[in-house]
Amino acid sequence: MKIICIGRNYVDHIKELHHTVPADPVFFLKPDTALLIRNRPFYYPDFSRLIHHEVELVMKISKVGKNIQPAFANSYFDEIAVGLDFTARDLQDKAKQNGLPWALSKGFDHSAPLSRFVPKTKFLDLSDISFRLDLNSKTVQTGNSGLMIFSFDQIISYISRFMTLRTGDLIFTGTPAGVGPVQLGDQLEAYIEDQKFLSCTVK
Ligand code: MG
Repeated sequence: MKIICIGRNYVDHIKELHHTVPADPVFFLKPDTALLIRNRPFYYPDFSRLIHHEVELVMKISKVGKNIQPAFANSYFDEIAVGLDFTARDLQDKAKQNGLPWALSKGFDHSAPLSRFVPKTKFLDLSDISFRLDLNSKTVQTGNSGLMIFSFDQIISYISRFMTLRTGDLIFTGTPAGVGPVQLGDQLEAYIEDQKFLSCTVK
């Protein structure tokens, strides 16, 4: 199982990090050891002093595929969850400055808290799924799948040109604006529509 994450998929987040809108999806990988499930706490690692939260909708791939055309991409995922793409922003900034990969800053242990999954058929319109992140009961990020630069189908199609997608692979689809640091004791709660899907305490 691999975890693929899309970067720069919401215009408002691109602006807050002073990037430009990409012509193609930007993606990177996290190892399976990044997963943090069942609302387990996140233990702040000793190698970073600036862990940022990034709330994202997550697709689960339901069958193997390569070179998937956008028109058929919809049949390659069947479930949706919400997750956090924890990012060691200090390590990432250093990597960017030096032209180095993001593996450390994005792929460390438990950098991918993930909620339970819900069948995508639960949603009337996949291009209108709202989600949000509350930090200590205050909403800090709000997003909607309709605001993604690259849709679920376009993401699947693009990735599958380069990497075979397999059943169970996870795709984090990018974060909206409002990313920011987490501190010890913080309580993070992620919602899809108005339902709480994910809780994570920072310890
Ligand atoms: Mg992200």
